[in-house]
Amino acid sequence: MADPVVTLKHFFEEARSGRLTGIRCRRCGDLAMPPKEFCPACQERDWAPVALAGAGNITSFTVIRVAPRGRAAEVPYAVAVVRLDEGVSLLGRIVDISLESLRIGLPVRFRPLVTSEQAAIGFGPA
Ligand SMILES: [Zn+2]
Repeated sequence: MADPVVTLKHFFEEARSGRLTGIRCRRCGDLAMPPKEFCPACQERDWAPVALAGAGNITSFTVIRVAPRGRAAEVPYAVAVVRLDEGVSLLGRIVDISLESLRIGLPVRFRPLVTSEQAAIGFGPA
């Protein structure tokens, strides 16, 4: 089995350093992120890595008011689907933007949310 160009593990390692990496299908040109094994558009597995700038706009968001177990101190917070300028969408947590000022179309910028062992996707002010 050939190694994937960008694995999910690699994706999060890069994200931790503040870099977003997508993958583009060499066959049909579809851009995917986070990395997938097979192209959803053409079912091929022929990816090339693509560096993403991390700038985009909110296309939908949800305010979390009831926390998952162990995160009670963090609510309320928002998670949003952000459509990046490159054309892919990514789910991330909103940071440093007040819940009142969230709206569809708001420009945001990727920033890594790094805890002791994990990196997660966050979006802050553009
Ligand atoms: Zn494809």
